[in-house]
Amino acid sequence: MKLRSVKNLVPAVATSDGAGVKLNRTIGGPVLDNLDPFLLLDEFGSEEGADYIGGFPDHPHRGFETVTYMLNGLMRHEDSTGASGTLGPGSIQWMTAGRGIVHSEMPEQEEGLMRGFQLWVNLPAAEKMCAPRYQNIEPGDIPEVMSEDGVRIRVIAGEVDGTRGAVSGIAVEPTYLDITLPEGGEHIQPLASGHAAFCYVFEGEISIIASDEGAVVEVPHHTLAILSDGEGVHMRAGAKGGQALLIAGKPLNEPVVRYGPFVMNSREEIEQAIHDYRAGLF
Ligand code: MN
Repeated sequence: MKLRSVKNLVPAVATSDGAGVKLNRTIGGPVLDNLDPFLLLDEFGSEEGADYIGGFPDHPHRGFETVTYMLNGLMRHEDSTGASGTLGPGSIQWMTAGRGIVHSEMPEQEEGLMRGFQLWVNLPAAEKMCAPRYQNIEPGDIPEVMSEDGVRIRVIAGEVDGTRGAVSGIAVEPTYLDITLPEGGEHIQPLASGHAAFCYVFEGEISIIASDEGAVVEVPHHTLAILSDGEGVHMRAGAKGGQALLIAGKPLNEPVVRYGPFVMNSREEIEQAIHDYRAGLF
């Protein structure tokens, strides 16, 4: 297996979005506009209510998918299709905005730890105007693969040792794994050649071990490690163990024209999105 190496390390930029929610942004920030097919990656995490209490009041999306993965805390969502619910620790919401949705994402707590990730995944031109849909997965419905040496993998999307992920039917054939390695633990995860892939470490210490140069690169926290092409990735934890997201997907190789919450293929389609939203068509 040709193992992927770390091609680039992209440190997060502290920013805020919605009504003042503090975020660490890597994809979609000033350094990395997108990592086709991924348009944005935000990590949110704070014990201070003031950092998240404003939440994300009503806002539209068109042309892509928003994926919210909660680690801690409660987030309530409501949208223009009439759907609503609360995302709790360990749950995932894969929302395909398609031709348009207006929703809110508001904390259902005033203090205490709120932590998680939001990823934006692009849709191919042919599916940008599809009907909106959701996959809301409760924590207990996300398959977990446990190895004898203590590696624990939550399979949100993709496949690990024959176990299929909870989310299916997504255009870019994503892999979305939450991988916990014990002290000194290792995991080699096959990934489709040609897929864009990255690793985001958020607990402990994890290094990526490449096959060709024998290079070992430790991935710092709040930093996106973009992986080179290859057939798989070899991860190894340090003395304290570690936890990371490993995410991959098929590039679309189509023009990306973005304007806030709209991501389309041309300027004209963005103008149409603004027009349709103002006309109340979402
Ligand atoms: Mn949103």
